[in-house]
Amino acid sequence: MGGLIEDYVFHRDFSKTYPIITHGKGIYLYDKNGKKYMDACSGAVAANLGHGVEEIAEAIAFQAKQAAFVHTMRFETEVLFQLAEKIALLAPDTLNKVYFTSGGSEANESAIKLARQFHKDAGRPEKHIVIGRWQSYHGNTFGSLSAGGDIKRRQTYTPSLINFNHVYSPNCKRCPYQREKEDCDHKQNWSCVRDIESVINEIGPENVSAFIAEPIVGSQLGAVSPPEDYFKEIRKICDYYNIVLIVDEVMTGFGRTGKDFGIQHFGIVPDIITFGKGVSAGYAPLAGMIVHDRIVDSLIENSKGKFVHGYTYSGHPVSVAAGLSVLTIYERDRIVNNVQLAGDYLKQQLFALKYRCPIIYDVRGEGLLLGIELAIDGEKGTPFPENLHASERINSIAMELGAVFYPGSGSINGYLGDHILITPPLNVTTGEIDEMIRVLESSLNIFIEELKEEEAYEITK
Ligand code: PMP
Repeated sequence: MGGLIEDYVFHRDFSKTYPIITHGKGIYLYDKNGKKYMDACSGAVAANLGHGVEEIAEAIAFQAKQAAFVHTMRFETEVLFQLAEKIALLAPDTLNKVYFTSGGSEANESAIKLARQFHKDAGRPEKHIVIGRWQSYHGNTFGSLSAGGDIKRRQTYTPSLINFNHVYSPNCKRCPYQREKEDCDHKQNWSCVRDIESVINEIGPENVSAFIAEPIVGSQLGAVSPPEDYFKEIRKICDYYNIVLIVDEVMTGFGRTGKDFGIQHFGIVPDIITFGKGVSAGYAPLAGMIVHDRIVDSLIENSKGKFVHGYTYSGHPVSVAAGLSVLTIYERDRIVNNVQLAGDYLKQQLFALKYRCPIIYDVRGEGLLLGIELAIDGEKGTPFPENLHASERINSIAMELGAVFYPGSGSINGYLGDHILITPPLNVTTGEIDEMIRVLESSLNIFIEELKEEEAYEITK
């Protein structure tokens, strides 16, 4: 057998060994040696109700016994209608049709294709280019990777990527356009907004199909919100140039930020919302998009009702049954309410931690999508060198201590800038948050001690 490790799994990283998880309960996962891990990041911001919820497992088993699979080109199921209705009722009034996929990348892929077909069939055949944003993530398939702006994930594939355009995601604390906050008081001068118009005009509005953005940037920036009126400006630009506005809610959707959808913090209605992760709380692969009436109407009128697209597992009955059970629990247990309360508490604890810890530069995010940015110097924000892998190392220490967080890097320029997402299940308790903070603080302190021993960097505050 080839490779370094004697087994048959194509591992995520062949240089690592991973704990083998046998089961989970609530916020905890247990490995085969009996070690317990607090899941302080809901896996990948997906396991939003924690682990081992029997009610969801039963709903999945029931549907699997009834009819595990039907192909949506030939048949539909009751659960499909029920879940689509629940999702549409949470979404803005004019977004009423729900299309299902298995993962978030496929959801964004579908949205990009739908925007293109919408324009082409309505007599705007040149419109095909997507404008995305640097330091935003939309998935790992070629279309979604091309739209996204994660340099480290893109680099290997650059020659094959689609020639989409990008502007910078706003990040006021480290403005990529080097603007000071006072410069931005007059909104018409916002570089992050005006740049979009420059790009549109450069490539020609007749060529631009869609603009895609995360409402609050998750894995790439570590929970960075845009300035308050950013999306209002984006909405105006998209309306003016007839560009489909796709809001990627794969991470932010279904209560994660303290509202049903993250975009509801910003008072606009997008044309397509993509979703994933939280819709099934990780219990089955499920994602999709919610589509504005005007796009659906156009599809019916101009495309004979047919979206030229589809996957074998679109609307998979077992996944959909999982989603239906999860959304029922969110509603019944008033989960969004808990996100607001627990999110406020967690944020307060993170601010208090920043005060005690010399390497936290920023605390940010909404609801339970929270992040800390790390720096050699917590006051000035001097970033750690890239090759130190600071956030990864801190997370490895935390895992030794029995908690897992979501580390990330590249928030400053694609390479520099370390952050850690703290995104527990949405039903987390204050007691669990206290424990989470204790492990995080110990991990940061151990990391600081290691650096001192390595005599690599002087930690100051
Ligand atoms: N968009 C966003 C905002 C995400 O956070 C992710 C996953 N991290 C994706 C898209 C891709 O989703 P998936 O991994 O399910 O394909």
